Amino acid sequence: MRIAVLGVGQLARMMALDGIAMGVEFSFLKFPGEDSRCVDHLGRVVTVKAEDSCVALYEALGSPDVITTEKEGVDVAFYEQFSAHCSVFPPSKAVWISQNRLREKTFLNDQGVPTAGFAPAAKLDEIAPAAEGLGYPVIVKTQENGYDGKGQWWLRSAADIAAMSGAEASGPWLLEKVVPFEREISVVAARSSTGQVEVYPLAENVHREGVLLTSVVPVEAITQKQSDEVKSHITRLLKELDYVGVLSMECFVTETGIVANELAPRVHNSGHWTQNATQAGQFEQHVRAVLGFPLASTEMAAAAGMLNLLGVAATAEQALQANHHWHWYGKEVRSGRKVGHINVTAPDLAALKLALAKLEAEIYA
Ligand code: AMP
Repeated sequence: MRIAVLGVGQLARMMALDGIAMGVEFSFLKFPGEDSRCVDHLGRVVTVKAEDSCVALYEALGSPDVITTEKEGVDVAFYEQFSAHCSVFPPSKAVWISQNRLREKTFLNDQGVPTAGFAPAAKLDEIAPAAEGLGYPVIVKTQENGYDGKGQWWLRSAADIAAMSGAEASGPWLLEKVVPFEREISVVAARSSTGQVEVYPLAENVHREGVLLTSVVPVEAITQKQSDEVKSHITRLLKELDYVGVLSMECFVTETGIVANELAPRVHNSGHWTQNATQAGQFEQHVRAVLGFPLASTEMAAAAGMLNLLGVAATAEQALQANHHWHWYGKEVRSGRKVGHINVTAPDLAALKLALAKLEAEIYA
């Protein structure tokens, strides 16, 4: 069996590391200018050239059984064209929906998944009436290409619109009502090409300057009803999309219930803890799902968490304590860049939080 991954970053690397252990072969599709050091030596790396036909690329990739993607920012038509030759999982429709916040939130609401109230604005002068309609405070987000909090402006009143520096060329936008959330959580789930679905326990996530820093599992102070609600939402979305592979959803927990924020049609940073706390982590699960293999159990044995290494390295002494697992991406360390993560397990939540706090203090000292 061979899987080709669109992308050459750390998510592709971790998929391959797990898949290779099961005897699956990998190849990778890279665009000019992308740095492939995360996946060099894990399989053939094919660089896309403008003159290449789909069939030429497919053959250069070693005629894989499945093409998958490690990112949602792909040219959907380019991705979809491979379906003439092999399976393309996750389906391009799911990728297309998640590429645009207006499509994504409309889809979520259509499936009965609550989101923040939202309204589109195509031009700058449509922002004020849209914000009035929703009621301040609102967040203005670019409809496309925003990630990790980039391309966002918080408006407390109409006066803040003038301060949307550099916004003119970034439209169209989606305005969202600010959600007064208690915590941010995420769920990672998989659906196999056979229709089997497995949902991992929810994770609580803490961000630093819009970028994920830690995940902690299980989520404290969430009711069974809320947890079941999130799991039933993602199961419904997987079925509705005829989805194959791993799908992730970020949500807010509010006083009045769960509010979904974002879908990611791929393995997700907030699911990295699964690598060392469940029978099979999200990367192995994705490989199993796209190849139609039975999915692994998602039950976890203990409290688990993850600390991202953002622009910092760790020493072996820090990263390899008895209950720590070090995942290093082989990238050059640059300010704020995700260069690795450390998974931690513990016998209970209190011990886990202590261990993560100690690790964070040591590494970011
Ligand atoms: P996003 O790019 O949509 O993932 O947003 C980045 C971060 O901004 C989230 O993790 C939240 O902390 C915050 N955020 C985004 N949308 C909202 C919202 N509607 N209300 C409150 N906070 C938000």
